[in-house]
Amino acid sequence: MKKCPQCQNLIRKYCMVCPFCGYKFSVLQTIIEAIWYIFLVIVLFVAAILLILNVWDFNWA
Ligand SMILES: [Zn+2]
Repeated sequence: MKKCPQCQNLIRKYCMVCPFCGYKFSVLQTIIEAIWYIFLVIVLFVAAILLILNVWDFNWA
């Protein structure tokens, strides 16, 4: 959720246009936020895989 800077209503994070007042958000900012979110998910996924591999190595040693 994010707050509309014009009418202060809470709207969905990836809305490009405020449904209450029609305020248009920066498309670039929305894309950057989406890329950051995907990046964080990938980092967590890789970290989980590395953790699992380390646990396996530990068990074999
Ligand atoms: Zn608004």
